[in-house]
Amino acid sequence: MTPEEFRAAGHELIDWIADYRARVYDGSLPVMARTAPGEVRNALPAAPPDEGEPFDTMMHDVDRVVVPGLTLWQHPNFHGYFPSNSSLASVLGDLLSTGLGVLGLSWQSSPALTEVEEVVTDWLRQMVGLSPAWKGVIQDTASTTTMLALICARERATGFSLGRGGLQQVEAPLVVYSSAHAHSSVDKGALMAGFGRDNVRHVACDDAFAMRADALEVAIAADLAEGRTPCAVVATSGTTASTALDPIGAIVDVARHYGLFVHVDAAMGGSAMILPECRWMWDGIEGADSVVVNVHKWLGVAFDCSVHLVRDPELLVRVMSTNPSYLRSSVDEQVRNYRDWGLPLGRRFRALKLWFLVREQGVKGLQARLRRDIDNAQWLASQVRATPGWSVLAPVPLQTLCVRHAPPELEGEALDAHTQRWCDAINRAGQAYLTPAILDGRWMVRVSIGSEATERVHVERLWHLMQEAARDSAAMIQGTAT
Ligand SMILES: *Cc1c(COP(=O)(O)O)cnc(C)c1O
Repeated sequence: MTPEEFRAAGHELIDWIADYRARVYDGSLPVMARTAPGEVRNALPAAPPDEGEPFDTMMHDVDRVVVPGLTLWQHPNFHGYFPSNSSLASVLGDLLSTGLGVLGLSWQSSPALTEVEEVVTDWLRQMVGLSPAWKGVIQDTASTTTMLALICARERATGFSLGRGGLQQVEAPLVVYSSAHAHSSVDKGALMAGFGRDNVRHVACDDAFAMRADALEVAIAADLAEGRTPCAVVATSGTTASTALDPIGAIVDVARHYGLFVHVDAAMGGSAMILPECRWMWDGIEGADSVVVNVHKWLGVAFDCSVHLVRDPELLVRVMSTNPSYLRSSVDEQVRNYRDWGLPLGRRFRALKLWFLVREQGVKGLQARLRRDIDNAQWLASQVRATPGWSVLAPVPLQTLCVRHAPPELEGEALDAHTQRWCDAINRAGQAYLTPAILDGRWMVRVSIGSEATERVHVERLWHLMQEAARDSAAMIQGTAT
């Protein structure tokens, strides 16, 4: 494709994306894909074309095959998982990154790639209210970041065993702690970092699903008594099931006392820290060693973009530097070589999509949107709480509610079936998308508010749909019972 052909096809594609987004924001398309397994695959040729094809033919297949196979994350009634906004300004940044076609292998391989990332991760640091002691790097996802943090913890605890026999020669097993409500990526990261399932502890939570610092201390003491080495604790600021907030300050105090590394998974909650009124949620954060904030979630940067903030970048460099001198100091150097701050050698120019978003919206624009979403969640929570048969099952510090509709005659598995049935009915009808989950052993429905296009009217519509679906499901049970 020549630059001139690109210009023509590119204009067409930008128009297509703008039209598509307008249709998605309009809210009339079904949110959840109605695709059967294998349907997309079977609609496409199994073998690649021998001859090149015109751009229009490809776009025809996008319309015909791809679009119907999409679940619409940018839909105003998308309330599943967590919002993953792909703000159009950041889409342009992503396009620019790819269009520039540069790689950061070292500072020299594209100085601007490194230095824009330095600047924009420092902007984010300021936006979330962290002190200048933190330095940032962009990783692909929170899962990768948490694994890297645990590897750093492992190396710090073993006096850099990787320069010797590694974990295979460490005498006492190293232990990692997280709450029972931590994201599955914490366990995965610990397993990939070599800790082993036997050395991953799930610390008990309180009534609000937050880690109990006293239970953490008991677990650490028990491991010490049995000759193991407590190594790291992963605290979560905004858990996946209910956005519970682990008490960072109390956890940091315990960790300090026993010399543990503290990583904070603020993948979801971190975005809210751009609001000064929310910063109490991670009080004590300055005492942690690293934090991950998924700016590709609620904040609005097109996936993938996880900002990894650390107190001691030298630790990252010491663990991941490909120059085999463990004594070098990046602080003394003039430039950052971000390849030493993460696993991949090649680095995309991800910073552009964050840079574009923050510049186009301004901090105030982003704050206003997040406040709108928190207000909408509070409004829905108050409606649910005030309605007989309905309850909100966990505190709502951010924008996610855990709700259940429990008609008086329903309990146990019958209640679970009812919950899944009304949720499923909404998803199938395509009017909204919700993800059910298990909390305290019973099914409930998570309502996560915060798509860029979601206004109060969409939340009102959702509440109406929820009541209607629950009523229909309850009536069905009455029908079968009589
Ligand atoms: C979304 C999420 C993750 C996983 O994020 P990825 O970037 O997809 O790896 C981890 N932890 C929490 C709390 C999350 O909300």
